[in-house]
Amino acid sequence: MANPFSGIISTELKQTYNNAIDALLETTALVRTCKFTFDSTESVCNNCIVDTLKKTSTGYYKSGGSIPFTNGQICPNCNGAGLILNENEVSLNLAIIYDMKMLLKFGKSTQYPQGSLLLVSKISTLDTIKQAKGMITDTGLDNSMRLKYKLLEAPTPVGFGASDYLFSIWGLV
Ligand SMILES: [Zn+2]
Repeated sequence: MANPFSGIISTELKQTYNNAIDALLETTALVRTCKFTFDSTESVCNNCIVDTLKKTSTGYYKSGGSIPFTNGQICPNCNGAGLILNENEVSLNLAIIYDMKMLLKFGKSTQYPQGSLLLVSKISTLDTIKQAKGMITDTGLDNSMRLKYKLLEAPTPVGFGASDYLFSIWGLV
């Protein structure tokens, strides 16, 4: 017997599916700001002359620096450390699904810790998500209500006939 479903997955249907997910991910739709954090990096202070062997400020102002100070004083830019710690982060607006049932449906595990969530994003976010050390969701409330998450498993490319989107599952830290 011929497959009664044969041929129903048309180009139009695939497009409809993609349009639906695109609509979900629009700025005014179901997205929230997710801040992805990466390993912090150190850079040499550009406001003072730095002793690169001792890795400390010499206390001498470096011409062109943004906060001039008197030689012999502590550099106000690096507080005399000579190095600046850069917190690296990227903010993206993504769709967050908190529903545990959806999570289990799309995830690989049959058990995720309470409070885990599913992020839906475009495939272009793959590198950011894979490299992130953590993720902070903006709940729309004050900073103390921002929750921190870590990636629970490798993100899964998904799509209807193509890998246009990415599912990633995050657990509370
Ligand atoms: Zn400095």
